[in-house]
Amino acid sequence: MKIGILQETHPGETRIAFAPKTVEKLVQMRCTVFFEPGAGLRSSFPDSEYLSAGATKAGRTDLLSDCDLVAAIHPLSDADLTRIKPDGVVLGLYQPYNDPDIEARVGRFPLVHVLSLDMMPRTTIAQSMDVLSSMASIAGYQAVLAGAALLPRYFPMLITAAGSIPPAKVLVLGAGVAGLQAIATARRLGATVEAFDTRAAAKEEVLSLGAKFVEVEGAVDDRGAGGYAVQQSEEFLARQRAEVQARASKSDVVICTAQVRGRKAPILLTAETVGQMRPGSVVVDLAASTGGNCELTQDGQTVSVNGVTILGNSHLAARQPADASTLLGNNILNLLKLFVDKNGQAAFDWNHDILRAIRIGKADAAAS
Ligand code: NAD
Repeated sequence: MKIGILQETHPGETRIAFAPKTVEKLVQMRCTVFFEPGAGLRSSFPDSEYLSAGATKAGRTDLLSDCDLVAAIHPLSDADLTRIKPDGVVLGLYQPYNDPDIEARVGRFPLVHVLSLDMMPRTTIAQSMDVLSSMASIAGYQAVLAGAALLPRYFPMLITAAGSIPPAKVLVLGAGVAGLQAIATARRLGATVEAFDTRAAAKEEVLSLGAKFVEVEGAVDDRGAGGYAVQQSEEFLARQRAEVQARASKSDVVICTAQVRGRKAPILLTAETVGQMRPGSVVVDLAASTGGNCELTQDGQTVSVNGVTILGNSHLAARQPADASTLLGNNILNLLKLFVDKNGQAAFDWNHDILRAIRIGKADAAAS
């Protein structure tokens, strides 16, 4: 199988679909790998590392038309999709939950198989292929580093000759993959941490990381939602907002990660609550791209309201592009291992549960 790694064209993207270490493994699997010159530079991977890993340079047009599988993080343009050869496979994050038109757009290329990695099912077998978890973990880590850098105080408790400094107080809203990594990172930096989540299973995980779990009675049961959170009632959210207010007003940093797939993020931190936070406090909102957990979040911007800094950024994984690309590529590699034989040839079984879940743009994915 010929695999092509494309240069990302999306502004601000620093990651790449495969890091050189993953390319080495693809070559060991007897796949032939091509890459666009300079594609890895923004992730800190020079062309020489791809060449040493066994890949070959190719121009974009040749790569698109000649490869059996083409990998790029962001959706390919129509002009690029037009060039893909019949039965070619295109891999990336097409996010049909956030872009309602994407399925119809890629559906206009019926001979191309588009695999949207963000649609990976939450099953045990698919865990090692879960790109969203890989990126969420980095985002949670980066959120704490960003919060610590903006805070005009220390995170750890310090006892110095000049006086004592108490530990920073961090509040984490949403204890999924990103939230748990934020808790772990804030704890490693010495902060005291409290966290909210609606999933019953989150409590034990939060406690095991040395944080306090704040319980709000009456959350809707999420079992049966395939590992995803479910929409909560307005009455529950109102009670939760009151609890959040009581704690946020005493916190130095609030990390927002609460999301419900396919919906606007729940507002948990109101403008009134921000008004009660101490000047110098920081809100880092990872839910910004779906509206944010903070009422005052502006996606892609850092704003200051009454001395509180609010950073709205759902793409913090791009701040750590080398690791992000390595994990992303390994996730894709684990997917390909299911379908590539010992001679490096791929036979995609379109009826396989995982491919049925991630293939988009086909009216009847199983039949075609
Ligand atoms: P997510 O990104 O969908 O949501 C983030 C968190 O926000 C979730 O924990 C959710 O419960 C929480 N949330 C939603 N509404 C809330 C509210 N009103 N208040 C407080 N919190 C709220 O979640 P995620 O990070 O993808 O992970 C969710 C769970 O799924 C985790 O247990 C994770 O380990 C699991 N998971 C399993 C697999 C797999 O088995 N393959 C893959 C990914 C995630």
